[in-house]
Amino acid sequence: MAIEETVVNLDILDLAHAGWAMNLVQSASNLFTICVDDRIQYMNPAGLKLLGIDAAEDAINQKFINFIHNDYKEYLAFGLEVLAEEDDFIPLKLVTLKGEELDAKLLIHELQIKGKAAYIVEVQDITAYKRASEAVRDREHRIKSILNTVSEGIITFDSEGKIQTFNPAAEKVFGCTANEIIGHHVVELLPHDKHEKFRRIFDRKVAHGRSSLMGKPIEFNGYNRTKGKFPMEITISSMQVGHERIFTAVLRDITERIQTVERIRHLAHHDTLTGLPNRHLFTDRLHHAIKLSHRYDRALVLMFIDLDKFKPINDTLGHEAGDVVLIEVAQRFKNIIRESDTVARIGGDEFIILLEELDSVEIGPVVAQKVLDCLEEPIMAGGRECTLGASVGLACYPDDTMDAEELMRYADEAMYAVKTSGRNGYRRYDSKLSVLGT
Ligand code: GH3
Ligand code: MG
Repeated sequence: MAIEETVVNLDILDLAHAGWAMNLVQSASNLFTICVDDRIQYMNPAGLKLLGIDAAEDAINQKFINFIHNDYKEYLAFGLEVLAEEDDFIPLKLVTLKGEELDAKLLIHELQIKGKAAYIVEVQDITAYKRASEAVRDREHRIKSILNTVSEGIITFDSEGKIQTFNPAAEKVFGCTANEIIGHHVVELLPHDKHEKFRRIFDRKVAHGRSSLMGKPIEFNGYNRTKGKFPMEITISSMQVGHERIFTAVLRDITERIQTVERIRHLAHHDTLTGLPNRHLFTDRLHHAIKLSHRYDRALVLMFIDLDKFKPINDTLGHEAGDVVLIEVAQRFKNIIRESDTVARIGGDEFIILLEELDSVEIGPVVAQKVLDCLEEPIMAGGRECTLGASVGLACYPDDTMDAEELMRYADEAMYAVKTSGRNGYRRYDSKLSVLGT
């Protein structure tokens, strides 16, 4: 486009001979306008387009301030002259002919034409840029609020292990603030005795993204500054950001989950009334004990105990009184055995005692007698003193059998023999049911 077609008030400005400089302005993508007495004398095509002005003539002699948003008009209240002193772009808003608002940056130069002050105004439309940066800011804000509200602790660290970000959930999990921990090595979030080991694993493997710890949930202990050690589930993943490898750890404190699992496991393996191991756990322990006894050439004694005339306590004093008796009996049995031995409740009034790591089975009758003795003291239940005895059957490993199920059956048979021969005594199994005691 020829300069003459768009530069209108050439007579005033006499710019026709500005040559290449005007060509440059004509083809610029920013708005360029020349104002005299704050009125437009020239506007380049990009400017006309930006402000929605159809013909160059329509711009001539218009006050430039007419295209400035009301909120920014005060900038120009003292004329362009004042703003020409600024060396930098001034941020403001323009309004197009159609009333559309544009974010812009403005730069003003003063020049003298025929002894008159004229101002070249350059305007860069930054609406798209501003929207884009607002979108980025908005996205960052949303990511930040997600990080601030998620229940998982989220930590990022670099390939040297230096913590870069630490969200509020992580602050709660580890009992320290982001300010305190950012910049420190990630192993400082683990118990002190693990620092050295994990620093080695980190330097050798994690830093290179090679560790088997990566990408799947793993469980190990973390360190909370006020509560100490706690179990956590953590998933570490890595990503390459430019030249840097960044690691993200997503984690949670699983103390409660582990306690619940342990509670359920305990319920599944223990009698709820007395807290003693139940038949299921006892059977496991017996098999394990037999394996160890076999390996170390040791003996075992298994004792089957059924209380005598227990039902009448229930019938006369009530079921609750019966429960009190069972709890007390369990406690007394626990008191007479070593910690390495086991006492279990396997049925209503049926208990089992397993004596382990024995050099000989001769201790069996001694403990059986203790069982009977410990029941001699009456038990207070339902406001009454209850006296009861027990029938005890013994079977020995390896003398009687080396098989767990057989050992149980033999002890049961021996106990039954005591029941049928008058109760309140003990008897060791033998194939002819020879009597060891009464
Ligand atoms: P015996 O001398 O022949 O052993 O007879 P017993 O009266 O001791 O009765 P038995 O061993 O045949 O039966 C045990 C009774 O224990 C049966 C049941 O009523 C009672 N019982 C079973 N479980 C519980 C319990 O959890 N609490 C209470 N209070 N009683 C129970
Ligand atoms: Mg009984």
